[in-house]
Amino acid sequence: MNKFDVIIIGGGLAGLRAGIELSGNAKVAMLTKVYPMRSHSSAAEGGVNAALGNRGDNKEDNVYTHTYDTVKGSDYLADQDAAEILCKEGIDRVYEMEHWGVPFSRTEEGKIAQRPFGGGSYARACYASDKTGHALLETMYERSLKENLFVFNEYMVLKLVVKDGYVHGVVALSLRTGEVEGFIAKTIIIATGGLGRIYSFTTNAHINTGFGNAIAYWAGVTLKDSEFIQFHPTGLPTTGILITEGVRGEGGILKNRLGERFMEKYVSMKPPELAPRDIVARSMMIEINEGRGFPDMGGYLHLDVTHLDPEIVKKRLSQIRELTISFMGIDPLKKPIPVRPVQHYSMGGIGTDIDGATNIKGIYAAGEAACVSVHGANRLGANSLLETLVFGRRAGVAALNYVRNERFNPSESYVNSAVVEIKSKIKGLFNKKNGGTESTKIMHELQQTMDKYVGIFRNQIGLERGIEIIADLKKRFEKVGVSSKGTTYNLELIRVLELEGMLDIAEVIAKGALARTETRGAHFRTDHKERDDTNWLKHTIAEYTPDGPRFSYQPVLIGKYKPQKRVY
Ligand SMILES: Cc1cc2nc3c(=O)[nH]c(=O)nc-3n(C[C@H](O)[C@H](O)[C@H](O)COP(=O)(O)OP(=O)(O)OC[C@H]3O[C@@H](n4cnc5c(N)ncnc54)[C@H](O)[C@@H]3O)c2cc1C
Repeated sequence: MNKFDVIIIGGGLAGLRAGIELSGNAKVAMLTKVYPMRSHSSAAEGGVNAALGNRGDNKEDNVYTHTYDTVKGSDYLADQDAAEILCKEGIDRVYEMEHWGVPFSRTEEGKIAQRPFGGGSYARACYASDKTGHALLETMYERSLKENLFVFNEYMVLKLVVKDGYVHGVVALSLRTGEVEGFIAKTIIIATGGLGRIYSFTTNAHINTGFGNAIAYWAGVTLKDSEFIQFHPTGLPTTGILITEGVRGEGGILKNRLGERFMEKYVSMKPPELAPRDIVARSMMIEINEGRGFPDMGGYLHLDVTHLDPEIVKKRLSQIRELTISFMGIDPLKKPIPVRPVQHYSMGGIGTDIDGATNIKGIYAAGEAACVSVHGANRLGANSLLETLVFGRRAGVAALNYVRNERFNPSESYVNSAVVEIKSKIKGLFNKKNGGTESTKIMHELQQTMDKYVGIFRNQIGLERGIEIIADLKKRFEKVGVSSKGTTYNLELIRVLELEGMLDIAEVIAKGALARTETRGAHFRTDHKERDDTNWLKHTIAEYTPDGPRFSYQPVLIGKYKPQKRVY
């Protein structure tokens, strides 16, 4: 059987960064559902934050202004030790990426260029045109090729083998051969990315199903703050393709159907379009719901860059221009871009400490799948790429310590039994009658339910209805089988396996949202409109039980920045 010191699940930025840290010091396998370069990290557009102070107008920027912005942006739910680490170590990590070869856009003096992003008091998003994620991932991937990593491409992990409080390995499906294989290791790093596909209208790639969170949850790893889901203000209507916040950073203006720069009504900061995402997305939905949006395509507003120097758009926002031309038939140089808020990011996830450690010995997590927590109730744009670099590395360091110091041998027989269990589960799915379109129908109904009841605006009645529907869908899922019996890239099998996880994670999100009777960051309750620090300045912890999540709560680590009213 395959035996390693560490198994990393996921080949995005967080997984690769952890792998590079470990390589040479431990025997490391990386299992990834898609080839690393196809990970969602490559879709990131706008930038990665770091207080470099590279522009005339941001010389004063420093670790503490960045930390303060992050904590205020999080509506005080971020753990402040974690936020400070993000901002401090982030500077080194961004320079490291520069030295490894990322083709960052440049200032006239040749320094890394920086643009303003939402909720930041200084222009601190470092960018490579509007393809920052692609540039980072390509450089990180090339770097990883020099390292000693055993990469298993197109392997989907289906189970973490946890027994007696320790992890012993994983069971994975080779998507190419249909073979179910066991991998032994005493340390696992989960870096499986986001869960946007639990929603219907999302910027996320089809691979972002949150399955990594589900397998962790089933294995007894606790999830943290899952109810906090980010909606990005500007997606293209109908497809949900992201139009980066960098467009507003470069001076793009949001307008309603009456041509009003409506954000001025909602915030007093300048420019008002650069308020944090939760506030802009909500304001946009109010405009649409009150009839000041354009009615077709589900309702939308305008993001206007026609007043900008066309050279800026061509150089710094070239991909945005291309996407808008290809998918909407509109050239942003000539006409405004149609946009509407869209699911984008999960602030919560696998609960970890500042070194990526979870509640189960030997299991670590990093990147979007994890909740450290640095984003609290609302993430600032360009802080997520940064998180993958900083906490991907830290998880690698901590995992290596664990490998060296923990005297414990993982059990091959536990992993073998888990392989038998998963094989029989898959056989069971093949034997059930209800294959074909039923799983797709359940998935679509789940996604619509999340959009409708667990979206930007939430309330008790809606959340209860959403939870009821999810429970019905889970019942229907029990009968679902797989009718396509192929072994090579069996997409129906993959969908059914992932759907089980999506249903459980959706339940955690919806029930966590129902329990939290306050408004904080992206979690807006129309029936509890105020933040309630007395009762709710705490992290939600969800533990798996066969009857649904069991919730408990943990205090937030407050440091220098005492909770204040959050005004922009
Ligand atoms: C369109 C878009 C634009 C964005 N723009 C920005 C931006 O400008 N700035 C910013 O800071 N953030 C941005 N974000 C967010 C940011 O890109 C992501 O949060 C971050 O890249 C996630 O990195 P990751 O390494 O955690 O996961 P990913 O890059 O998503 O990688 C996940 C990996 O896990 C693997 N995987 C998943 N499940 C399994 C399994 N069961 N078994 C094996 N492998 C598995 C996949 O193969 C993949 O390799 C953007 C996000 C989107 C969707």
